[in-house]
Amino acid sequence: MNKRKNKFIIIPILVAILSLASLIYFKSPFNTSNEKLYIDFIKDLSNNRIEKVYDTNSPTIKVKLKDGTIYSTDNPRNIDFKENLLKSGVKVSESSLVDVKSLIPSLGLLTSIALISVMLLKSSKTTSKGLFSMSSLDVSPTENVNYSFKDMAGNEEAKESVKDVVDFLKNPEKYNKYGARIPKGIILYGDPGTGKTLLAKAIAGEADVPFFAVSGSDFVQVYVGVGAGRIRNLFKKAKSYGKAVIFIDEIDAIGKKRSNSGTGGSDERDQTLNALLTAMSGFNEDHGIVVIAATNRLDILDNALLRPGRFDRHIEVSLPDVSARKKIMELHLDNKPHNNINITEWAQKTAYFSGAKIENLINEAAILACKNNSPQITDGHLDKAFSIVLAGHEKINRDFIKDKDKKITAYHEIGHALTSLKVLPEEKISKITIIPSTKGAGGYTLSIPEDTMYQSKDYLYKRIMVLLGGRAAEEIIFGQDHITTGAYNDLQKCSHMIFNIITKYGMGETLGLLSLDELSSLKDLNQKDILLECKNIIDSLYNKTKILLLENKESLHQLSNLLLEKETLYYEDLLQFTVDN
Ligand code: ADP
Ligand code: ZN
Repeated sequence: MNKRKNKFIIIPILVAILSLASLIYFKSPFNTSNEKLYIDFIKDLSNNRIEKVYDTNSPTIKVKLKDGTIYSTDNPRNIDFKENLLKSGVKVSESSLVDVKSLIPSLGLLTSIALISVMLLKSSKTTSKGLFSMSSLDVSPTENVNYSFKDMAGNEEAKESVKDVVDFLKNPEKYNKYGARIPKGIILYGDPGTGKTLLAKAIAGEADVPFFAVSGSDFVQVYVGVGAGRIRNLFKKAKSYGKAVIFIDEIDAIGKKRSNSGTGGSDERDQTLNALLTAMSGFNEDHGIVVIAATNRLDILDNALLRPGRFDRHIEVSLPDVSARKKIMELHLDNKPHNNINITEWAQKTAYFSGAKIENLINEAAILACKNNSPQITDGHLDKAFSIVLAGHEKINRDFIKDKDKKITAYHEIGHALTSLKVLPEEKISKITIIPSTKGAGGYTLSIPEDTMYQSKDYLYKRIMVLLGGRAAEEIIFGQDHITTGAYNDLQKCSHMIFNIITKYGMGETLGLLSLDELSSLKDLNQKDILLECKNIIDSLYNKTKILLLENKESLHQLSNLLLEKETLYYEDLLQFTVDN
């Protein structure tokens, strides 16, 4: 809009220049065409060629001839001048001649100057709006968001964890009566395309409240204070609707952990972050406003954001496993004509695909079907679309690696799980998955530790065995030379635990009941012995774990294959393996 205005400003500028030029020309001493000597005027008068004289008080008077010519001549300032003229039949006017033509340039100049200043003023106003006020970030909510939980397949856990928020948005009074505090802020974290935006929309849709969507990067501006202003404006607007869901995508743009080194440009971000935190503490629980933020990684966010009363509910939106992928495919195929598509097989083939990627795959297939004038989408179209989505030749290679990776991950995770089932049967394993999460590299095994106040030496040893189960399974199945870096995290934890057992908990031999922390000032403390004892313990525990898994090799294979097939196993899937313990 600004650009267009700027283009039009050229017109008054041109007019101004032309008017100025003509004014200079007509006023210049060279332009003598309409000035005559007084004697010439007298001649005209005697020749009876004059029609009218404009007799004013000015030093010159204007004379109009019968043929229309106008000229000026000196004012004789004679008292009889007027009478003489009248006597010779010349009209006399006492007002000055308004020569319209000569006024045009002046008028043009005046109006164009006026126009230019108005235009400049206006455009400077709009640019200053863009830079310094918040209205340029036009946040108008979507009301009647047409999304519900049905539009999101899979991710049942995530949906489950936001159901109370929907209920709260519907009737906050109910929760207020109980004095219940519903989270003001929710963080959805997970890989791109896993449906975080979708879930936020579904919450607003289910609760039937307006949905404000912004991105964290909208608030990061060059000018200090702009982002903060925009935040305040956003919340003000949301409040005016009473209830609302505010969705902030890419929250890391404003909420990233502050680095100690680089301070450049962080002022603006700090102010924006503070404005967000203040705004969030500014509305009460009974307001019915919920802020949902999305990020790919939770661990890079500033702790200030995650504290209670701020974004204190963290929900992972993970990549779909095979059954979720099947549901997502069904959902997106639902409104499209299709024929004989083996959805189960496609769900298997699309391992590690996000929901967005699956949606993209089906869309590509639909486009292909349409291009071919085929009445329906078929397996063939999906095949072609699959290559497009995976980009050509890369596919074969990647699938191979993927399969091998998957297998390693599966055995590794089952190694943990099986060890846990055998040595700590009272700990419930709630979930094993080979779908990567933002928490762990390949996959992960979630077990619920028993709630006890103290941990015995026996228990700590067993936990270490469970941690070592991943690497042990890798070694048993793939051989000593093919163990992987996948155990990195496990080994870190083991080392930490064993070191504490010996140096803090008084459960080792080298130090006995002495605590290393208190002895740290001793110079000739034999660190070698401590290291050696740590190593002996972990070696013997590792051997024990290997023996245990070798004894249960059959279960190891069976469970790993089941995991490869289903990608996620739950407590129920493991029951049969706990019984024949
Ligand atoms: P994110 O915000 O996590 O990057 P989006 O919510 O923008 O992901 O997802 C992009 C699109 O992918 C959605 O509009 C939807 O079409 C599809 N999609 C992603 N996850 C799912 C899912 N679980 N069920 C159905 N569709 C999904
Ligand atoms: Zn592991």
